[in-house]
Amino acid sequence: MQGWEKNVRRVIPYVPGEQPKRENIIKLNTNENPYPPSPKVTEALRQMDAGTLRKYPDPSAQELTEAIAAQHGVDPEQVFPGVGSDDVLAMAFLAFFNSEKPILFPDITYSFYDVWADLFQIPYERQPLNEAFEIVKEDYYKDNGGVIFPNPNAPTGVLMGLSQVEDIIRHNGDVVVIVDEAYIDFGGISAKCLIDRYENLLVVQTFSKSRSMAGMRIGYALGSKKLIHYLNDVKYSFNSYTMNATAIRLGTAALSDDAYFEETCARIIATRERTKQELAALGFTFADSFANFVFASHERVLAKELFEALREAGIYVRYFNKPRIDNYLRITIGTDEEMDRLFTFLREYLKK
Ligand code: PMP
Repeated sequence: MQGWEKNVRRVIPYVPGEQPKRENIIKLNTNENPYPPSPKVTEALRQMDAGTLRKYPDPSAQELTEAIAAQHGVDPEQVFPGVGSDDVLAMAFLAFFNSEKPILFPDITYSFYDVWADLFQIPYERQPLNEAFEIVKEDYYKDNGGVIFPNPNAPTGVLMGLSQVEDIIRHNGDVVVIVDEAYIDFGGISAKCLIDRYENLLVVQTFSKSRSMAGMRIGYALGSKKLIHYLNDVKYSFNSYTMNATAIRLGTAALSDDAYFEETCARIIATRERTKQELAALGFTFADSFANFVFASHERVLAKELFEALREAGIYVRYFNKPRIDNYLRITIGTDEEMDRLFTFLREYLKK
């Protein structure tokens, strides 16, 4: 090793899902929304003037922040926008998880949490999900440096009821509790209604899934004014211009179309419920999912084998070669036509 390398901050990075270059594939591997963003987004994009890109964007992203605040019925000072919820979560780890005590998160969860913890040198302890892949709330009642979990959890899709989420928050008044609600719009009740009661609660949501805008990179946190203030201090110590002008404009446009949002979410939920029936009939088992994916295991065929056969056939799903979940596939809910092609392939393959 060269001398200079000893001082390099070395990390094992998060591995995002594949974005294949192949044509005509069915892409069910990164929980993207199969429907395009609202026509209001298309229209706003058409009306954008490239000349305005000469200027720096508004560092506070005021237009978008106010639209998010109005959407959720909170004060704009309770909103922190970012470049996807990944950016918001990374800032929150940096701002709030600054204790010698370990932060707590589930053993099976979003695989970015341990990466940020390692990057920022935050100690952490994983709390095992039970056999049904549920979070055991009592595991989070011990002394700790902070708590984070997704609800619904990923990659399992399992939803925790609001009263249980509140129990965890109530037992953790001395630390910040982050509820990562990337998938909440597909059937859960948001903990955002608790932010006025618990000053230490941060709820994080995204435009990547239910708003069909993963490519635009917009996420945000909702919390008490104090919490958001601390987050802004960290953000302005890192990069003032996180939100680009296009994201601010198009994100705001997306929020002006509730009808489209509700219709596409309802379609995905309907397709998800049908997917559960089809998968069960094909011999798959899975915990009940409230997200835009199903995390399924087949009674007879190994997940890795199925993953490779599907990939060969141009159907991409996600496989995690990790303890406890290495016999599961995470299948994103696509359009009805895409799911039908998946079922047709599986029916044929499983006959062998
Ligand atoms: N949280 C969870 C649980 C996720 O699955 C994802 C998607 N990878 C994210 C956060 C980040 O999504 P984004 O940065 O696109 O908002």
